[in-house]
Amino acid sequence: MPDLTKKNIETDEDTGATTGLLTYSAAKVPLPNKFATTTELNATRLVGLKQEFPTEFIIAGKLIYPETLKRILKEEEFLKEFARRVARETGAHEDALSLLFLVWKGEAAVSESSDLRTILDVQYFADMDVITVQQSPGVSPTDFIALYRFAERWLDNRGLDKPLMPILTPAGTRDDFEKTLNAVLKRGSKLIGFDMRGGFYYQALRSLEEAKKKDPELWIHAFQVPPKIRFGRNYLRCSEGMMLPLYGVDSFNRWVVPPPPVPLTKDKINMFDSANWGVFKRKEWDKQYGVRLHCTCPMCNKQKLPTFFLGKVLTVLGRSKVHDHYAQREQLLEFSKAVKKGNAKDFVSKRKYPNDFLQQMAKSEAEAS
Ligand SMILES: [Zn+2]
Repeated sequence: MPDLTKKNIETDEDTGATTGLLTYSAAKVPLPNKFATTTELNATRLVGLKQEFPTEFIIAGKLIYPETLKRILKEEEFLKEFARRVARETGAHEDALSLLFLVWKGEAAVSESSDLRTILDVQYFADMDVITVQQSPGVSPTDFIALYRFAERWLDNRGLDKPLMPILTPAGTRDDFEKTLNAVLKRGSKLIGFDMRGGFYYQALRSLEEAKKKDPELWIHAFQVPPKIRFGRNYLRCSEGMMLPLYGVDSFNRWVVPPPPVPLTKDKINMFDSANWGVFKRKEWDKQYGVRLHCTCPMCNKQKLPTFFLGKVLTVLGRSKVHDHYAQREQLLEFSKAVKKGNAKDFVSKRKYPNDFLQQMAKSEAEAS
């Protein structure tokens, strides 16, 4: 196995949240953490960010429509161009590690080992640091484990000494999810990816939390995390990513959203609020906090709400992405300090929206039992 390990692990007794340092060759990655996607890196160029965007990992998130997949699998030149593009986008950031994540669209899926081999080859050509093997929607636990084992053999055959990350998809039941999870853990995997698919999968998160309790050395990363938590039919104000460390998740990245069918407007753009860990749209922010942006990140620095929203819609969307990234990373750092001091619970429940969320969860757990 390559030397990807977690060190200096500290656990908060009340919440089970952990801090640690993920080390891999020369890289040292503090956990918990939020990593940038290639979409966010593109946004930094759009908004003209002067400094280097902070991230220890780059998630090359690619939307894969059935037609795209078909071409990758069948056309050599298309595959190579796809790999070159991934390499270019991740290579611009020299110090960061990289991995490929496919966002399945429509019926696109990889369920045959011959198709998986091509996807693995893409990652080889693009020189990814961590090799991913994703469970497409609808692929059973047994079939996925067969694919995972195929990927293990592929690494051996290629003579590649790189970590292999299985990425699990939410299953219909907690049992089904655990079947897959336990099978990869049994094969000795120390890293687990979970595709949140823009939702909030409470049962699966509880399973991950338990796995983490048994083995704090696991590195658990969540992909495709939406801004807010969907609870029943409603969206809670609370930021979803910020709650994930309470369920054993060490790191996450935001969702990669396809271009909307209806034009995006400035009023639909979400912004993370570092004071209370809420997520607000422009009018909601104005109502709650007025025009003041209580954030000192390079995007907000000395700006007020109206100037933040000046310019084209995509520029404002870019600013919100860049702000969210800085603000959430900063708050995760504060959170990890609290974990080290053993007062993570207090730290989280002092913030309005996490507190609301935790109360809701406690209430629905009590009703269910
Ligand atoms: Zn900011």
